Amino acid sequence: MARTISKYRLIEEDDSICLGISAGKDSLVMLYGIYQYNLKHHQENPIIGVIIDEGIEGYRLEAVQYVHRFMKKHQLRFNLIETSFQEHFGKTLAEMVGIIEKNDLNMNPCTVCGTIKRHILNKVAMQKGATKLAIGHNMDDIIQTLIQNIIRNDLDKIGKNLPHKSSELDLNNGKKKKRYFIPRIKPLSRLSEHEIIKYCQFKGFNPIKELCPYSLNYPIFRRRIKNFLDTFEKNNHEVKYNLLNIHYRLYDLLKEQNRMEPQKFNYCESCGQPTGSKRKICHYCELKRLFDV
Ligand SMILES: [Zn+2]
Repeated sequence: MARTISKYRLIEEDDSICLGISAGKDSLVMLYGIYQYNLKHHQENPIIGVIIDEGIEGYRLEAVQYVHRFMKKHQLRFNLIETSFQEHFGKTLAEMVGIIEKNDLNMNPCTVCGTIKRHILNKVAMQKGATKLAIGHNMDDIIQTLIQNIIRNDLDKIGKNLPHKSSELDLNNGKKKKRYFIPRIKPLSRLSEHEIIKYCQFKGFNPIKELCPYSLNYPIFRRRIKNFLDTFEKNNHEVKYNLLNIHYRLYDLLKEQNRMEPQKFNYCESCGQPTGSKRKICHYCELKRLFDV
């Protein structure tokens, strides 16, 4: 992880880092790794952690308590901000799932959860003056997204996101350049899920297993891709690394050939944040309207 951070200059001097965390294996490894990296290279860089309670009974409370214990045990000293869907969005995920099921809406709770979480993380990171938002996506997550984008014939997304970094949006707002999205970095991008599990065992971390009840009830496209890749990997251990490398090569090729359209956008009529060029309101505000909050 330290090599990935140095090689791609994910963290530099004067960065203020916001970590989106849970109590899962990826989060704990990222939290520990970034803290140690910072201690060694950029002691003055401030770090904050954000943990979001989605509002699923009995699910997140244990995680929050666990992260506090983990920080104490490993002497990780930084500010941990606890926030929730209820606080920002006005409804818990459980309430939204109730509405989805009652009205037989064709919606996946994982997509709803992801949209709201991204919005809250970005908002909190901006409020706290962060310059980087670190996300615990590992190599498996990244290549699953790559396969998903290939299956959907979405070359744009492949060309806009490097495996270790998401595209950022800096827009000129009048004379003053205003940043709308905090650049998202993925320090675990070159570590496989298997390596992360092994590292947790080696360090004696006991991550809380991600057992969100909704992710189990709603089988999603991504899980099918995961199973497909895991099956291949059993016979060829290089499959995932090859896919990660081809991701970099595809990105470079698209950039070299200048094949990417410039990113177009509109401003959300409700919250003022940038959104897709064909949209009037952003996904987050659309959900707010749908769930009447
Ligand atoms: Zn909006």
